[in-house]
Amino acid sequence: MDTTALQHAAQLIDNADALIIAAGAGMSVDSGLPDFRGSRGLWTTLLPEGLHERDLHAWTQGRCFETDPTQAWRFYGEALRVCESTVPHAGHAFLLDWADRKPHGAFVYTSNVDGHFEAAGFAPARIVECHGSIRHFQCARPCSPDIWPAAHGDGAPTLPRCRRCGALARPNFLLFSDPAWVVARTNAQRLRMETWRAGPCKPVVIEIGAGLALPGVRMFAQSLRLPLIRINTDATELYGAATIALQGRALDVLTRIDAALARVHAQ
Ligand SMILES: [Zn+2]
Repeated sequence: MDTTALQHAAQLIDNADALIIAAGAGMSVDSGLPDFRGSRGLWTTLLPEGLHERDLHAWTQGRCFETDPTQAWRFYGEALRVCESTVPHAGHAFLLDWADRKPHGAFVYTSNVDGHFEAAGFAPARIVECHGSIRHFQCARPCSPDIWPAAHGDGAPTLPRCRRCGALARPNFLLFSDPAWVVARTNAQRLRMETWRAGPCKPVVIEIGAGLALPGVRMFAQSLRLPLIRINTDATELYGAATIALQGRALDVLTRIDAALARVHAQ
C-alpha cells in the first residue's frame, strides 16, 4: 500500500472536525459476514436446507413474504441470527476512536442492514441505514408506518406478527421490487443527518467497501463534494472522485490508517 497516500489520509482525518463514514458490504465482510452476491455470498450460504442458489432470486424480491412466508422467514430468520451473533471487527472501534476526538464526532451512512455500527458503539442517532435494518420489523402489508426492534429469536418457529394488525411481519429492509418497504425510519435518520451536517466546518468522508454493483453509498459519498478517502479491495472500483484511494480490505486499511494517525500525533 502506498505509504504516502496512507499518511495523507491520516493527515486529512487528523485535520477534520468531523467524520462522515460511508460504508458498503465490504465493511461487514471482515466481521465474517459474507458479501451478498456470488456462490459464497451471504444469501447463498444462508439458504436453508432444501433451497438452492437458483431459488435466491425469489427470496430477494419484496413479494416473497406474500408468496411463501414460511420459507421467507426460514431464510431471513437465519440471516437475522447470523447478524446478531457476529461481532463487529476492530475497524469499527478504530473509527469510533477517531470520531471521539472530533468536536462534531461522526455520522455513519451505510447500506448494511446488519446493525453492526450500532453494535460496535456508534449512537443510533448518528446512523443512516439507507436500505433499512434486518434488526427491525414492519408489517408485511403494511398497515401503518410502524417499525419496531426485532425480539431475539424472532422468525422461527412462530412467524412474527404485526404488532398493530396481527398480519405477518417482515424485516424492515429494502428488497428488490419492494413497494411495501416502510421508509419512515430511514427517512428520520436522513433528516437527523441533514441537521447534523450544518455543524461541522471541515468534515472528511471515509468511504469503505462500497461497490459499484449497488452504487448508492458511493453516490452519497461523492455527492457531498468533500475530501473523500476511498477504501476498496477492487482496483477497478477505486477510480473516480476520491481524494485518496487506498486499495485493500476494510480492517487492514483502517488498521494501517490508525498506525499512521499515531505517527501524526507523535510528531
Ligand atoms: Zn399490520
